Amino acid sequence: MNAAAVHQTICTGCGTVNRVPEDKPAHTAKCGRCAASLGLDVPAELDDAMLARLLEKTSGLVLLDVWAPWCGPCRAMAPQFATAAKALAGEARLAKLNADHSQMMHQLGVAGIPALILFRDGRIIDRKAGLMSADALAQWVREHARSTTSPKFGPNI
Ligand SMILES: [Zn+2]
Repeated sequence: MNAAAVHQTICTGCGTVNRVPEDKPAHTAKCGRCAASLGLDVPAELDDAMLARLLEKTSGLVLLDVWAPWCGPCRAMAPQFATAAKALAGEARLAKLNADHSQMMHQLGVAGIPALILFRDGRIIDRKAGLMSADALAQWVREHARSTTSPKFGPNI
């Protein structure tokens, strides 16, 4: 098991903290409280409150896509982000935040979208801007999964 793998995260349906079973494929994991799929192989669509909880309670890597419905490159990247979520199931939790409905753009340091922000244990460790392919996303995340460098970008969220 990779040291940066997701060992604990939340059910974004009910907010309950769940351990991720290590003896089963990540995409089969279900919430112990509401029995919904934890959706570890699909991007989670979050609001500010659920994003804050996800970042607080997830151990390991979280990749956040900040997007908006009117942003062409954001829409173009959506299927790439979904493919990356399948490829990275159990290695990183992928989540999406609609910039139009968020008050966290300043806190997250977002100057333009799409913005990709990578967190480890709730802290920002890297970021990229603009359209990326699924392969490029997975490669970028795995570079960080192998490294243990301390956060380069503050502040803590
Ligand atoms: Zn649940």
